[in-house]
Amino acid sequence: MSDRNQRLIAYRSEKPTPGSILAELFGLGANAVRKIGVNAHQQIDIAALEEAISANRAAGHLPFLVVGTAGTTSTGAIDPLPELAALCRKYALWFHVDGAYGAPAHGLTRCPRRLAWLAGAADSIALDPHKWLYSPLEAGCALVRDPHLLQATFSHHPTYYNFNGSRKCATQLPRVWPPKFTQLHALKVWLGLRQVGRAGYSQMIGDDIALAQALYLTRQFARIRKLQAVTQHLSITTFRFVPLGSTRNNRQVAAYVNKLNEELLNRLQKSGEAFVECRGRRQLSLHALASSTSGTTLADVEALPALVLRLGRQVDAEIRPHFLPYHA
Ligand SMILES: *Cc1c(COP(=O)(O)O)cnc(C)c1O
Repeated sequence: MSDRNQRLIAYRSEKPTPGSILAELFGLGANAVRKIGVNAHQQIDIAALEEAISANRAAGHLPFLVVGTAGTTSTGAIDPLPELAALCRKYALWFHVDGAYGAPAHGLTRCPRRLAWLAGAADSIALDPHKWLYSPLEAGCALVRDPHLLQATFSHHPTYYNFNGSRKCATQLPRVWPPKFTQLHALKVWLGLRQVGRAGYSQMIGDDIALAQALYLTRQFARIRKLQAVTQHLSITTFRFVPLGSTRNNRQVAAYVNKLNEELLNRLQKSGEAFVECRGRRQLSLHALASSTSGTTLADVEALPALVLRLGRQVDAEIRPHFLPYHA
């Protein structure tokens, strides 16, 4: 490491997903993370990633990690995992997959096509059982292909755990592996797995996906031109209220439609009738995460477009600027 400017470089997509904070926690610094552009399907641009790796190597840096996403927080989009894995093999990079939300869908009897590669492709996978394994907050989990690496990196050998004087014994106690010593978060996850089983999780996760698909396909999105279903991945459907025709070539209209959807989101949340979130700043859409276990039914899903339309019209009538005439 003779070059003062040489640094370890990690790559992730520019999608709005949590994650860079880890680079700061581990002392790499946020500048060590390079954000790679995405295509129209919100998937990382493989060619741009390879270019960045080559350019960073040529500049004397040390690329070491690529983070792919299996189900982004806001749209559920899944990166092209086999292509990412191949690129990582080519350049000898660690391939980590952020499956915090989406990974459990890999266990479905009919696993979504893009997730099929997850188990074969990744060196490590992050997974939040408190999301799609329905565990109580909080339960974070890292699965590492080679368990010895995990142990070599994180195990501690405090003298007070060497019960019989043997170091080997201490490292085999699971609680000595993670940085948090005495907090056995694994128990509630394990109990869930025992109680619900693979078939149970398959059923619940499958039901959630079916609800999100039903929302995306609801006849009202097709019938009411002002409501647009935007994306549908895993259990997330995004949609927007666009009462003004195309926003493509008019920046003022596009900005107003974003503002309208933001206000509509607040109104929906305050109404107490539906809870949705938002995704993306450039083109703001509303995001519905289907969860059958929290009591959402097909009837709720089918009622959502009409509710969005009713509140959307109200908000539009209230806040539309004078240069965009309003015709109810
Ligand atoms: C929720 C989520 C995270 C953050 O996970 P926490 O550990 O619960 O903060 C990271 N990545 C994705 C894709 C997520 O959905």
